Amino acid sequence: MKKLHTYSKICYNWSFLPFKKYFMVFNMMILYRLDSALKRVNLLVSRVGVSSELRGWCWDRPPVEPPVHGVYLPIYELANRYCESMRDIYLRYVEGVEVKPNVAMVEGRVYHEVVKSVLTLAKKVVYGLDIVEGFRLLQIMSSRRKSYLNGILKSCLKPIDASDVESEVARLKARACNLWNYLTLYVSSNLDLVRSRYRTIELDSLVALAIPHIVEFKVDGTLLGLSRELSVDVFNPQNVVLEIKTGRRMSFHRFVVGGYALALESANEVPVNLGAVMYIHFDQRNLPVVTLNYHFIGDEIRRDFLELRDTALEIIYNERDPGLPPKCYKYCVYRDYCRGRR
Ligand code: SF4
Repeated sequence: MKKLHTYSKICYNWSFLPFKKYFMVFNMMILYRLDSALKRVNLLVSRVGVSSELRGWCWDRPPVEPPVHGVYLPIYELANRYCESMRDIYLRYVEGVEVKPNVAMVEGRVYHEVVKSVLTLAKKVVYGLDIVEGFRLLQIMSSRRKSYLNGILKSCLKPIDASDVESEVARLKARACNLWNYLTLYVSSNLDLVRSRYRTIELDSLVALAIPHIVEFKVDGTLLGLSRELSVDVFNPQNVVLEIKTGRRMSFHRFVVGGYALALESANEVPVNLGAVMYIHFDQRNLPVVTLNYHFIGDEIRRDFLELRDTALEIIYNERDPGLPPKCYKYCVYRDYCRGRR
């Protein structure tokens, strides 16, 4: 067990370089790193294993079976443990408190939408126009950037007061624009990279190899007491779940990928052993800096996630207020509400 604990902590960090000079290197690195991470994880699975009772397909018996039936929770609410006592769960699901997103959440939403739009639009363009040259794809994607970004900003800024973000909008726009360029270069160069590897390749196969990511991949988590329409940020055909984060690194981010792995296993009955958290940050020039943390979805992550789920379900079922934690998260959206009741 001790050995397993050590192995499950293995993760790899690799800060990618600004794209302007190094986007080709970036592409090769990201492909190499995924293959390499998969090899390492397969080795871990063969040596250390994952306890069979902790696979998602064991949803009909503890510890994977939910202790309460009829309550279904989204993974992000369970796993994003900014509130250590889980009072956020009590407020949301027992007292029915509704809060507006804060600026940091809106910013994260914008970058998520940019990733989603670039990957989806790139596939649409390639299939629709039968395009196989990276440069042509780059040109088309660049010409559509403005209208897409305007739409994304408009819908993401809608739920909050414009005055709250007035000073932030220019910076947000610059970052969203740079992220669009960065990702567009990534998919366009991938297209050429795959073509250069295979002399004869069908369009469908080219797209599958160059842009294999499926965004907002839907999975039904109800067998585990999770939402019916869970959305995995990015799902890779090699059964890798990828979560995008834009704020500070937090140790509990690994529970998000653990939760999605369990949900996918329960729905598809195929093992998911590797997850990754992709952090999108920006430097002083507003250029994106992308870092990838791989996580072996071993026993420890699975048990910790299931424990979170069970505690949340118990709070909701018993309508139990867990009280305030020793320290509240500075940017918690419930802060005003909780402070009023201290
Ligand atoms: S304000 Fe504090 S107690 Fe309330 S939900 Fe946030 S972190 Fe938890």
